[in-house]
Amino acid sequence: MSSALKILPPIEPLSNKLAVTVKLPKPLVVSFVRNEVTAWRKEILSGVESTRAAIEESIAGKLQEFANSRLQPVINATGVLIHTNLGRSPLGKTAAAALEQIATGYSNLEFDLPQGTRGKRAGYLETALACLVQSEAATAVNNCAAALVLILKHLCKGEKNEVIVSRSELVEIGGGFRIPEILETSGAQLVEVGATNKTHLKDYAKAITPNTALILKVHRSNFYIEGFTSEPDISELSTLCIEHNIPLVEDIGSGAMMNTDELAPIDHEPTPQEALTKGVDLICFSGDKLLGGPQSGIIAGRGDLIAGIKSEPFFRAVRCDKLILTVLQESIDEYLRTQASPKDTDVPNLKALAISSDQLRARAEIMLEAIGATDKADISIAESVATTGGGTMPRSKIPSIALRITPTGISLNKLAKLLRTGSPAIVGYTQDDNLQLDLRTLFDWQDPLVSQRLKEVLNG
Ligand SMILES: *Cc1c(COP(=O)(O)O)cnc(C)c1O
Repeated sequence: MSSALKILPPIEPLSNKLAVTVKLPKPLVVSFVRNEVTAWRKEILSGVESTRAAIEESIAGKLQEFANSRLQPVINATGVLIHTNLGRSPLGKTAAAALEQIATGYSNLEFDLPQGTRGKRAGYLETALACLVQSEAATAVNNCAAALVLILKHLCKGEKNEVIVSRSELVEIGGGFRIPEILETSGAQLVEVGATNKTHLKDYAKAITPNTALILKVHRSNFYIEGFTSEPDISELSTLCIEHNIPLVEDIGSGAMMNTDELAPIDHEPTPQEALTKGVDLICFSGDKLLGGPQSGIIAGRGDLIAGIKSEPFFRAVRCDKLILTVLQESIDEYLRTQASPKDTDVPNLKALAISSDQLRARAEIMLEAIGATDKADISIAESVATTGGGTMPRSKIPSIALRITPTGISLNKLAKLLRTGSPAIVGYTQDDNLQLDLRTLFDWQDPLVSQRLKEVLNG
């Protein structure tokens, strides 16, 4: 091994300038560079040829990529409102302010102020949640996947662990969430019924045995089936469940609180209220999809079942921390205050859905003006299509406005990468030979930042 040292002169630390540009803690830079140098030594020992300058350049490039991977704000110009890769729902100002207050001090997380004794965690939030979705009780955990596992763990005990699911609902939501696998992890035994396109009430009825733990409905969040299809109404399923004394559970996914049909020409998302009114015993949904809150999973429904769920040891493993609880509390209060009306709300995603294309076009014109002339691209204002994304409303096509950039003096990939890796990072999408920056997902205060950055990249 020592021969490697003879082949390569000892590497001096990379210039301080580099460490400063990437603004990483020095020990991290040192450790990163050491690992890279070790890898290069191996390469060279195995016969790869290189020069010191090339190695330095390669390591500097990788260090910059590593620095870019640090969690940082990104300007979302994709037109996808709930973009899971970009952190799903942004928070409103009220929620963010509350977060700062709780984060920087102490709080009554588990302290009863009037009594001066140990108190209940999330008691207020649970009452507000139940009030919002009109259920007997509610609670929150880390995400919807955890909520579903928790429900299944609670309801599947010993032999009584069969969970009946329609074959049309054995869905994959993405990022490792597949219904059959979630069931398996939870100790549930999957009983598939019906066909991909049709499941009848009698299919469910036939599958019920003394070992049936529950019937599970799963919202087809990110796809739809159309044509020769049918499924029983939730109320019919509920009657069947009551007859056999088994709970009916529905994973509704997105947690839309308002009638989404009225917001924009988009699909109908089931609301928690709808599901519960039709007789579902327990529902779960994400806190950071259409609800617009923090990453969390909400469980609502029958009081006795929620109480049981909360006494599961696993509940402790997936409980929310004070920061999440603060933001969720703020989001839920906001819905209660504004009665989920998009125009009055502080929830950014709902506001973004409600903006007219004319308003977006007016903003795009100001941006175009600010960018000014460049000989590296043709920039125009184009009609575009935004979507809700995040595994909600797969057919949603929200008319939108985008800046369409047709690069002439720079390659499309290079332009897109410069914007993604610059400061602020800007993520758009390519369509044909253009880069499109959709305004529906831009906050208006970001418009000048995007114009400025485009100006730099296209004139620099
Ligand atoms: C998104 C989704 C989930 C997963 O929610 P997370 O909060 O990301 O865990 C589960 N079920 C359905 C139906 C969904 O749409």
